[in-house]
Amino acid sequence: MQCPYCGREMEEGLIQSPQELSWLPGKKRPLLGRAQFHDGAVVLSELSMLKGSAVLAFLCRDCEKVVIDCAGGLSDFNRK
Ligand SMILES: [Zn+2]
Repeated sequence: MQCPYCGREMEEGLIQSPQELSWLPGKKRPLLGRAQFHDGAVVLSELSMLKGSAVLAFLCRDCEKVVIDCAGGLSDFNRK
């Protein structure tokens, strides 16, 4: 993937968590972070009780940006 900021090639990797990984709207950090409790939330990786959650992510070290393509859940390591 090309960095959308500088155009250089990005490094492929992953972001993982023992919890569900989701994007939540707004700037407040809620007590309950799960997507099901928030309108407009986007699940990045469903939780697996055995493996936790993980999503494919691309890093640009020059710009210090991380990009996650969340279209269709294709980046979710736990996608069924
Ligand atoms: Zn960049």
